[in-house]
Amino acid sequence: VPGTHVTERLAGNPVAEAIIDSTRKAVEAGRARGWSKPVLVSVHLGGGTPFAFYLRQQRKIAPQVGVELRPSALPPHAKASQLLSRLEALDRDPAVHGVLLEHPLPAPLDFFDAVGRLAPEKDVDGAGWDNLGRLVAGQPIQAPAVTLAAMAILRHYGIPVAGQRAVVLGRSATVGLPLALGLLARGAGGDATVTVAHSRTADLASVLAGSHVIFSCVGHPGLLTRRVVPRGATVVDVGVSSVPAPKGSAGAQPVGDADARDLDGWAGALTPVPGGVGPVTVAQLMANVVRGWEIQMGGRTE
Ligand code: NAP
Repeated sequence: VPGTHVTERLAGNPVAEAIIDSTRKAVEAGRARGWSKPVLVSVHLGGGTPFAFYLRQQRKIAPQVGVELRPSALPPHAKASQLLSRLEALDRDPAVHGVLLEHPLPAPLDFFDAVGRLAPEKDVDGAGWDNLGRLVAGQPIQAPAVTLAAMAILRHYGIPVAGQRAVVLGRSATVGLPLALGLLARGAGGDATVTVAHSRTADLASVLAGSHVIFSCVGHPGLLTRRVVPRGATVVDVGVSSVPAPKGSAGAQPVGDADARDLDGWAGALTPVPGGVGPVTVAQLMANVVRGWEIQMGGRTE
């Protein structure tokens, strides 16, 4: 029937399961060589931030791959000196293989100054100066889990990006910009022609016109509708916002940037929220920890 179109739902769980499976095997192989367990320390300020939700997911997935997770809470009003000495101590500790730092941090704490103290292999979210600089040169030791996750979903479902027009919405140094650099890099998962849009972008519809793949890393529910998304485009919805749960149920629920109902039957493919990029990000974080562990144990050759 003209005008109808089936939108493929790019579920995150099968992608996450594949990453968990290969990561667990890598841990088993290292353990069989007598290596100690990989240890991830998640440094956070405590309290009901979005990071608390992320930490719950880490608690669930870490045992599945054989990573030991050690949450490390700082006082809610921690001073910069406390944060920096905590990270420097973790960086020196040979029994710690990966360090994740809550983001964003409240002022006057400076996330980049803190995470920049970590050795690149321990900086498991690829957020420090060293990894960001290496990403520009196409040689990161660690890259942000969320950006690797967004790219892994497309690879898993066989959606090409090489030679395609990709638009990244969002230019933060932790999500949008590293993703744009990853898509632009030469070789597997990259080679896209990349446009980056942001809050000052005028006329989003004209920027998105002709794009094949759209990565939305904004955090504005309802940003992507048929009005701006070209027909048949793939939408990877990285954005997560919390909205009140529907009438009759308590609490809040996560929603993406895409208006999934409006795009159904219009977009070529769409990642759901929840259940899209989120679970893949947690799995990818564990893969990064194990990568750092292998480097520190001296067993990684590439
Ligand atoms: P952020 O620092 O707030 O950055 C948001 C970006 O969106 C900024 O670059 C902003 O532009 C841009 N923006 C705002 N309005 C826009 C518009 N109308 N059109 C195009 N761009 C617009 O947030 P972030 O830390 O990068 O995170 C982005 C989103 O990803 C958030 O929703 C976050 O929750 C989500 N996230 C998800 C995962 C996951 O695992 N699924 C992981 C991390 C983050 P300016 O630079 O001009 O302000």
